[in-house]
Amino acid sequence: MLSDNQTRVEVSPGALNDQLGRPLRSLRVSVTDRCNLRCNYCMPEENYVWLPRQELLTFEEIARLVAVFTSLGVEDVRLTGGEPLLRRDLPKLVRMLAANPRIRDLALTTNGVLFAEQAEDLRAAGLHRVTLSLDTLRPERFLALAGRDAHAQVLEGIAVARRAGFTKTKLDTVVLRGVNDDELADLIEYGRGTEAEVRFIEYMDVGGATEWSIDKVFTRADMLDRLEKRYGKITPVEEISSAPAQRFTLPDGTVFGIIASTTTPFCRTCDRSRLTADGLWYLCLYAQAGVDLRRLLRAGAGMEELAARIASVWQRRTDRGAELRAATGHRGILVGIDQLRQDPHLEMHTRGG
Ligand code: SAM
Repeated sequence: MLSDNQTRVEVSPGALNDQLGRPLRSLRVSVTDRCNLRCNYCMPEENYVWLPRQELLTFEEIARLVAVFTSLGVEDVRLTGGEPLLRRDLPKLVRMLAANPRIRDLALTTNGVLFAEQAEDLRAAGLHRVTLSLDTLRPERFLALAGRDAHAQVLEGIAVARRAGFTKTKLDTVVLRGVNDDELADLIEYGRGTEAEVRFIEYMDVGGATEWSIDKVFTRADMLDRLEKRYGKITPVEEISSAPAQRFTLPDGTVFGIIASTTTPFCRTCDRSRLTADGLWYLCLYAQAGVDLRRLLRAGAGMEELAARIASVWQRRTDRGAELRAATGHRGILVGIDQLRQDPHLEMHTRGG
């Protein structure tokens, strides 16, 4: 089902389109599978099978692959993880990517724990924007949700974003029924105070979410209902966008977003694909297999050969994983823990959220 205000993909003449007319435009690059939090909706286990270090792409390899993608039409590049700030010298990679004139939007998604100490370097290196994950304003709740006592560092990271000169900052909240669904208005107020746009994400049944159940999903309809009771009439923002969030306005003009991948998938406008830290390219967050670009790269493939491979795969793309999941009658977890142990690429933290 398409969301009300996102019925079309922007048509870009000459773009490399897949089978559903979706352009290759946005690339999420995971720079590490490791994370310093253990959010129970994403990485509930203490230990994981980590990607072997020698298989991780170097910064030069990442920049090279990104250059191939941008030569094919990618304009938006987002660094993610795992927790991307755990990757040593990340500003160096940012500087290399910022030198690519085809990148229109160079962004970072982080849990914020290490952001305060790196914000200025990242900004100076040419990072355009940052999205910080913030599920709660309550330290004790943070500890219970993320398994680490790092709430103060996250809030400091959010405060520093503005001081370091970042604008258009976003705060992403995964809303879990009975856990943090009572904080929606508080988070909106907090976002106002920090000049960041808050986006509420429905809990998704992706790999890694081994504790997922439909009962824990606080849906877009629930969120709008809750917020309307507090603020009055909420109006959808009319815009044509391939962004995952549908945006809404409160009566006082405050804008917030909802990413309703679970109940209202937006596959028909999805122009995103994902590169794991070890160079596997996934066309969908729900895909079970990826394309091994590291192997091609390390076998000596040149830019043209890589571009030809990527183009031919994208042109055949038919993925619409979230829609197919939504059509599943009895919905449960996507991948069990044993299967995740056998193939860590199925984990959300490996392919990047
Ligand atoms: N560590 C970084 C962070 O926390 O933002 C980047 C990686 S994290 C996998 C990216 C985003 O995915 C975060 O906002 C996280 O909350 C979200 N996420 C992880 N598991 C999810 C799930 N099961 N449902 C919805 N969002 C999820």
